[in-house]
Amino acid sequence: MFKRDQLILKGDTPGSTIELPFYRVGPANAPEKVYLQAALHADEQPGTMVLHHLLPLLKQADEQDLLRARFTIVPMANPPGMNNLVHRTHIGRYDLNTGVNYNRQWPDLFAMIRSHLAGRLSDSESFNVNLIRKTISGWIDAQQPRSTAEQLRLFLLREAHDAEFVLDLHCDTDSLPYIYTSPELMPELQDLADWMGAAAVMTAADSGGGSFDEVLPLLYRKVAQANPGKPVPMASATATLEYRGIADVHDEYGEQDALRLFGFLAGRGLIDAETGPRPEPRCEATPFEATDIVRVDRPGMVAYRVDLGQHVTKGQPIADLIALDGPEAFLARTPILAGTDGIVLSRLVRKYVARGESIMKIVGNTPLQARKGYLLED
Ligand SMILES: [Zn+2]
Repeated sequence: MFKRDQLILKGDTPGSTIELPFYRVGPANAPEKVYLQAALHADEQPGTMVLHHLLPLLKQADEQDLLRARFTIVPMANPPGMNNLVHRTHIGRYDLNTGVNYNRQWPDLFAMIRSHLAGRLSDSESFNVNLIRKTISGWIDAQQPRSTAEQLRLFLLREAHDAEFVLDLHCDTDSLPYIYTSPELMPELQDLADWMGAAAVMTAADSGGGSFDEVLPLLYRKVAQANPGKPVPMASATATLEYRGIADVHDEYGEQDALRLFGFLAGRGLIDAETGPRPEPRCEATPFEATDIVRVDRPGMVAYRVDLGQHVTKGQPIADLIALDGPEAFLARTPILAGTDGIVLSRLVRKYVARGESIMKIVGNTPLQARKGYLLED
């Protein structure tokens, strides 16, 4: 099966509806499911480009009867966010009306279903996974969305909740490719990192932000904690895949990245295809607390001293902040120092920064004192 489907979202304003096209691919009765979405942050097109190139590969594999899983592919997961054009700038990260970051504040599903699950888990792992999925599905059915945003989130959760693999494709502003995932899923997903060519895999059980990729691991973790002695696996391998920087939308990248994803899926037996050897690892997973998010303590203009991928040492100047105000405006340069030994993973594409903004991620190995509680950049 290779089928275009669509969801019609009811707009919040008079006369508006929004179309969300997506694809279902592969045998509908396949035991495993793969869910891929891109552009939940609506201004992040690299993932959409990857899925644009992956879809024909899946179509061809389907025609050759090689798919061993059913796939749901949502290349543009946030059509309402595509509407957020303001004075020729696309504000794709936040809901313009509510200010909510589209990849934050996703629900704690355990809180929603804990009373329905109480006392019902068995000693069978597969029974428990089915029960959890059925209960989630029932909870989603019972919801009455009060906004376009809620309707969208419920739809994406419905499509993702029963998938064994849930990959959420994003990008940074200027960056190497990398992955966010849950600690329990590593090194299990090292093959995904290798196939992707990830320069870093950063793990956090709870980033504090309620990101989409944390919803299902959080659910299974909490069900397991609440039911000691009952087998509850991490039944969904979920990850956020960051496909470089926001301007890195090219066929060359998209084609290669799609082939690599295809390779990962084939390596897992989800596609019956030969793809050559698994690429050598570029990194090992590190706790997200070990990544230094370098922030500035005053406004200025950034001049970077180091490139992406460069190894830096703690205390090394990684950029200068050029003063834009005060007695030494346009003369003074304040060095910004690395807070850890590590690899320069990302920089900010915009070079004017306000006080408190983050300008770089440096991936180290050792958790940093200051990195507690809310771990994300915004
Ligand atoms: Zn994003």
